[in-house]
Amino acid sequence: MVQLELARYESGVFPQPAEQDALGTGYRACYSSLNVSPKLAEIFHEAYRELRPRTPAPPMQVRFYPFVSINNTIRLRQGELYIRLSDLLEGAPAAVLHSIAHILLAKLYRKPVDRAHSSRYRRYVASHDVTAQARRVRQMRGRKHIRSARGHHYHLEEIFDDLNRRFFHGLMGRPQLTWSQNHARSSLGHYDPAHNAIVISRVFDHPRVPRYAIEYILFHEMLHLKHPVKLRGSRRCVHSREFLAEEKMFPELEQARRFLRIV
Ligand SMILES: [Zn+2]
Repeated sequence: MVQLELARYESGVFPQPAEQDALGTGYRACYSSLNVSPKLAEIFHEAYRELRPRTPAPPMQVRFYPFVSINNTIRLRQGELYIRLSDLLEGAPAAVLHSIAHILLAKLYRKPVDRAHSSRYRRYVASHDVTAQARRVRQMRGRKHIRSARGHHYHLEEIFDDLNRRFFHGLMGRPQLTWSQNHARSSLGHYDPAHNAIVISRVFDHPRVPRYAIEYILFHEMLHLKHPVKLRGSRRCVHSREFLAEEKMFPELEQARRFLRIV
C-alpha cells in the first residue's frame, strides 16, 4: 500500500473535477420539483374515457418519477390509480403522453393496445434525444455502482498490460483494476486480496497527473501481488528487500516519488 495524506491533492496540487458533485446534487435537487401536473391528469382522464366510456374514472395520481431507465408504472390500489411516468417524458408532447396513458390503462384493464398509440410512443422513445438523455441519466444515477478500470484520462487495464510486458514478461494475471469511487481515500492505491483487485485513488485520474506517477502506483501494487506478505493481524504494508530492489527497476521512481511527495 502506498500511503500519504491526500488532502494536499484535494487542495490544489491539481484541481478536482468539480462537475461530478455538482451534477449529483443538482440532480437530486430537482426531484422535489417533480409535481403532479393537472394537464397530465387531464390527459389520463381523457384516455380513460376513450377506453371505458361507461365506467366512471377512479381518482388518479399521476406523477413524473426519476426512474433509472425509461419506465412507466400503473397500479390500482383501493379504488385509486397510481401512475408513475419516467421523468424523461416530462417534456414530451401531449400526444405522446396521451399514447402512454392509453397504453398503461389498456394494459391495466386488459384491453387491446391501439397500434397508433403504441407506435407513436415507441417512435418518441426511440428518438435520439430521448435515448441520449436516458443514457446520461442512467449513468448519473447508476454511477455509484460503476466500478471500472476506464477513467476519464487513464485506462488502468491498458497501463497494467504495458507494465506487465515491461517488467513481468507479461506473466502476471490481471486482477480487477478499478478507480476508487471516492476522492477522499487514505491511500493512493491498494491491493484488495479478498476481491483480487487493485484499487487506485480516482484523484489521479487527472490530466495534470503524469502517466509515470500512475504507472508507479500501479507497479508498486503489482509488486505486492508478486511478493505476497503474510499480514499478522495488521494492515501495515511490508516491503521486503526483494520488493524494494525490484521497485528500483522502475525508471521514473524518483520523479514519481517526488510528484507523489513520498519521502
Ligand atoms: Zn506497499
